[in-house]
Amino acid sequence: MPDIYAIGDVTDRINLTPVAIAEGHTLAERLFSKHAPRDWAYDTTPKAVFFSETLASVGLTEEEAAKQADLDVFTASFRPLRQTLIGRDRKAFMKLIVERDSQKVVGAHMMGDAAAELMQGVAIAVTAGLTKRDFDRTIGIHPTTAEEFVTMRSPTRQVSRAS
Ligand SMILES: Cc1cc2nc3c(=O)[nH]c(=O)nc-3n(C[C@H](O)[C@H](O)[C@H](O)COP(=O)(O)OP(=O)(O)OC[C@H]3O[C@@H](n4cnc5c(N)ncnc54)[C@H](O)[C@@H]3O)c2cc1C
Repeated sequence: MPDIYAIGDVTDRINLTPVAIAEGHTLAERLFSKHAPRDWAYDTTPKAVFFSETLASVGLTEEEAAKQADLDVFTASFRPLRQTLIGRDRKAFMKLIVERDSQKVVGAHMMGDAAAELMQGVAIAVTAGLTKRDFDRTIGIHPTTAEEFVTMRSPTRQVSRAS
């Protein structure tokens, strides 16, 4: 049917509110605007699971990235200062997936307090195609959990491209 369009969850691609809104924008622009529709970065749609420990990620998982290239994988696991001060033992875990040859950061993952808030900012960097060097030369905000993303110095492991 040429006059019926599908956007949002009914297309069953990325079932999230901001994606449905973006698709709505695209359709409206395509139908009614003189300008080309905005170029949304669906590949780097950040995602979160809101739970007692929030999970958040953007880009590729380690397994997905290893199908495309050799990887340097950086991880950090630590107890944030705030947790230490209030006498709790909750830790945060963070991971950066970096393509070894290009040094492009293709995935970022986190579990811990404020993971979703933090990942929205990291998603801009991953969408922009920034490299590990760009992360390394970014000055941290101390004392925060977020600064771990710019202070991971050595790979935790190197992963060869899956054949
Ligand atoms: C429990 C839950 C939690 C979620 N939490 C999040 C979250 O934290 N963050 C996030 O980004 N996304 C979340 N989502 C996903 C998000 O709600 C959807 O991706 C988003 O609402 C999709 O928008 P949509 O317009 O495509 O569909 P919908 O919001 O489902 O809108 C479709 C509308 O069409 C109406 N409709 C259906 N059939 C007909 C019909 N035959 N005639 C007329 N009207 C009809 C429905 O009643 C509904 O109002 C959550 C979803 C669920 C179920």
